[in-house]
Amino acid sequence: MSTTLQAVRGMNDVLPDEAPLWQHVEDVARRTFAQYGYRNLRVPIVESTPLFVRGIGDATDIVEKEMYTFADKLSGDSLTLRPEATAGIVRAAIEHNLTYERPLRVWTSGQMFRHERPQRGRYRQFHQIDVEALGFAGPDVDAEQIVMLARLWKALGLSDLVLKINSIGDADDRRQHRASLVAHFEQHHTLLDDDAKRRLQSNPLRLLDSKHPPMQPVIAAAPRLVERLGAPAREHFDGVRRALDNAAIAYEVDSRLVRGLDYYNRTVFEWVTGALGAQGAVAGGGRYDGLFEQLGGKPTPACGFACGMERLVLLLQVANVVASDGPIAYIVHAGDAAAAAAAALAERLRDAGHAVVVNAGGGSFKSQMKRADASGASLALIIGDDELAAQSVSVKPLRSNTGQVSVPASEIAASIATLAA
Ligand code: AMP
Repeated sequence: MSTTLQAVRGMNDVLPDEAPLWQHVEDVARRTFAQYGYRNLRVPIVESTPLFVRGIGDATDIVEKEMYTFADKLSGDSLTLRPEATAGIVRAAIEHNLTYERPLRVWTSGQMFRHERPQRGRYRQFHQIDVEALGFAGPDVDAEQIVMLARLWKALGLSDLVLKINSIGDADDRRQHRASLVAHFEQHHTLLDDDAKRRLQSNPLRLLDSKHPPMQPVIAAAPRLVERLGAPAREHFDGVRRALDNAAIAYEVDSRLVRGLDYYNRTVFEWVTGALGAQGAVAGGGRYDGLFEQLGGKPTPACGFACGMERLVLLLQVANVVASDGPIAYIVHAGDAAAAAAAALAERLRDAGHAVVVNAGGGSFKSQMKRADASGASLALIIGDDELAAQSVSVKPLRSNTGQVSVPASEIAASIATLAA
């Protein structure tokens, strides 16, 4: 006997009972983004590896150890399953000249892949909803994206997310800060772990992210970039804060927020929750004014963010939010003539826009009623010999204690919404 096959570790199925919540999040997000003029764009899941190495940065966790990279069988080209969406969107924008005439607001969603240690809220295949504003230089669009996220949380009924913002300045600001950071950490070299020692020269900013306990006092005393910004980055950050204040959005300035991708500059932000344990980041993003040039495009300032779908769904489950995709009615029937009447009635109801399931595969009245209940339908519509003779349908509410009623078959389509209410 062959062994049973299982899904790859860290890559999950979304089963039909869970899917309505996913669809709910996707629907609400799509509607919210449309309210701000964001348009959908879809990019491939597989891209050439150098896109991510150049875009995300070769000293990042993602590029150093988390990418699913393989050689194309025919060409031998190195390909990678996308670990995030921004690099692919910028590649597409450059390739199709999407943003050089006028700026563009876009969003996308789908699978991302990172070879991380799977745990609750952290998976190897996960889904992001990703939003990018391409070709916008001012702080207004940074704030607009944050305000849009606040609206999304409200529409989903999520009330306890905290917004953290920071500015990591312009390239010159970071160069100067980097030098003082390296000097600071070198003074405390013995307290650094191996990872930190290795990264001290290549990416000292990431040391601020370290969870290594002996390093915490050193990190707390490190020079803060947000307090040493040059005038342009300072004004930009002040602009973002003013716009958030005007929109009455509460935030915390977190000078340690650096994020795990190298392309960011100026504004970075994250929305976090305490409800998911260690995996508290629900959405994160920021400005990446240099990425177009880094990928061979013309200078194009831009700003974007990504939300983790799995974490949003987990949060809704924690908050006991239920979404249902049950039909309005499940039709139970017995005998050939009743089966034909059931199929015809179902089509009439579908013509009127209703979702209706017709029992298939036979079964006793009792087992059909069990299936009707399991379908999530509001009503069972019963057609047997008596109903056929009377040209009526017996309507049994499945979600309330209201009793069964008999309704003329010709009146079902008009009255079903009232009967299900
Ligand atoms: P990032 O692209 O790392 O800025 O992540 C943006 C968002 O994607 C995070 O705030 C998470 O909600 C989600 N996310 C990132 N990595 C994972 C993962 N391995 N599993 C599940 N969600 C993730």
